[in-house]
Amino acid sequence: LVQIEGVNKWYGPLHVLQDINLDITRGEVVVVIGPSGSGKSTLCRVINRLEPINDGVIRFDGRVLPAEGKALAKLRSEVGMVFQSFNLFAHKTILENVTLGPIKVLNDSPADARQRGMALLERVGIANQAAKLPAQLSGGQQQRAAIARALAMRPKALLFDEPTSALDPEMVNEVLEVMISLAAEGMTMVVVTHEMGFARRAANRVIFMADGRIVEEAPPEEFFDHPRSERAQDFLSKIL
Ligand code: ATP
Ligand code: MG
Repeated sequence: LVQIEGVNKWYGPLHVLQDINLDITRGEVVVVIGPSGSGKSTLCRVINRLEPINDGVIRFDGRVLPAEGKALAKLRSEVGMVFQSFNLFAHKTILENVTLGPIKVLNDSPADARQRGMALLERVGIANQAAKLPAQLSGGQQQRAAIARALAMRPKALLFDEPTSALDPEMVNEVLEVMISLAAEGMTMVVVTHEMGFARRAANRVIFMADGRIVEEAPPEEFFDHPRSERAQDFLSKIL
């Protein structure tokens, strides 16, 4: 579904993505881990073209990523993104947060969008919060609303950039449970996270990045139990 071939990206002199090759198949769950500054967020951001690349090719669903215009808007609707900081519209209700994109971008009727939106809020367990503003919800509820909002666009893939890092510990699991159920249903997902329990349960593959490179990739059991590179061993010894 996502093919990344020979991708390089620089921020000025900083080579943040170095010859990245990665093929993500439909239904696959890829967990990306690695030290701060290794390029994990940048990798997510180039997949839905929030950031341009300098070199290489990224295909989504067989097509090279568009640089602008309607095709780019379509790509963004097909690749949902969930951020650490939720990024909900602060002055809209939770239900409006979930219906706005479908009405504006997918041309759903408001009635349809509301019906689908309520079903999605139900699914992430916050239907009873639909009329509230984001600030009136807990962090875990806000992040589940952000996931419902991404799902409302009927995406073909979802990118998660440290979705639980800003949450109080007791709220992490309610968000991970939603993500695990999405993975079980076959959603294609790229997840930057340090939640190793999630990686073991839901990932098909773990990608370990350091200094802008993919240093190691393996199924989760293999990666966590027998990391091959010194970088990965060192990293795991610090976080496990
Ligand atoms: P973290 O775990 O801290 O989130 P990360 O692996 O997600 O780190 P990135 O955010 O992808 O790392 O950043 C990779 C490198 O690129 C870092 O050195 C960062 O400082 C740099 N960088 C990121 N965004 C920009 C930008 N807009 N302009 C210049 N440099 C940037
Ligand atoms: Mg990051």
